[in-house]
Amino acid sequence: MRRVGPNSFTEIYFAGCNPSFIETSDGYVMIDSPQQPIDAVRWREQLEEKAPIRYLINTEPHGDHISGNAYFTKTTVVGQVKLQECFDRYLNAFGSLEDKRERYKQMDPDSVWLVGHPDYPASNPPSLTFTDTLTLNVGNHTFNIIHHPGHTAPQTSVHVPEEGVVFTGDNVFHKCRSWLQECDPWEWLDALDRIAALDVEIIVPGHGEPCSKAYLKEQAQIVENWVGFVERHVERGASPEEILKEGVPVTQQDPYPIGQRLFMHDERLTGLIVHNLHKRLLGKKEAAGTRAG
Ligand SMILES: [Zn+2]
Repeated sequence: MRRVGPNSFTEIYFAGCNPSFIETSDGYVMIDSPQQPIDAVRWREQLEEKAPIRYLINTEPHGDHISGNAYFTKTTVVGQVKLQECFDRYLNAFGSLEDKRERYKQMDPDSVWLVGHPDYPASNPPSLTFTDTLTLNVGNHTFNIIHHPGHTAPQTSVHVPEEGVVFTGDNVFHKCRSWLQECDPWEWLDALDRIAALDVEIIVPGHGEPCSKAYLKEQAQIVENWVGFVERHVERGASPEEILKEGVPVTQQDPYPIGQRLFMHDERLTGLIVHNLHKRLLGKKEAAGTRAG
């Protein structure tokens, strides 16, 4: 657990994302939920020992940020309107109950008994939604919840001015591999500019250690490197399969190793990134061609 502000904490040592919380004078506000069921339950019981958890704000629909929601049955979940729409689809993509049980038997036996547990029957998607921004006042704290599409379409940042902190979810991967498998890279670059414009000292990324705004340039460069790499191949008419067959010099685009027990996805991720960016660049090229014609 790392302190990131006078009353703000993030957990950077769990398997999954960096779930975080702010202790207000009227209970806790959480950002994302611990991925592993045993971590989620332990975390909730420890917090509730001191004060109620008023809100849980999700930054994005990826399973490592939302699958723990199920263990916070009494908490109001907040999310961008598109996140509410796609919540269960993403959770199902993360595996059926049976898949999860098998996975936890291998990776995290302490969590097995909590998969499909009758006390936690619902996935607990957002019930309080917003389109562009939402401000919540809890105790003496302000939570500016902002739609910053990029890494995913519903991507959301949570800016807490009293703490000088912004929680970005996976629009920032601090010194671990960036996942561009479904991003809109141009929106992502725009989101990074908008995050840079916030009055904050500390950025809590979706993965990796907390950092400062100085890192945002490097994050943008990684997105630009990937776009440039795939674009050169799109220009010469190569298909995603051809690009992958020729070999992708991954560390020339992104120098960082994959983090948080995700090593088994390293090579698969490269394929997903090339396919996603190829499709988006081709779409852009065709749209430009249509306009010119
Ligand atoms: Zn993500």
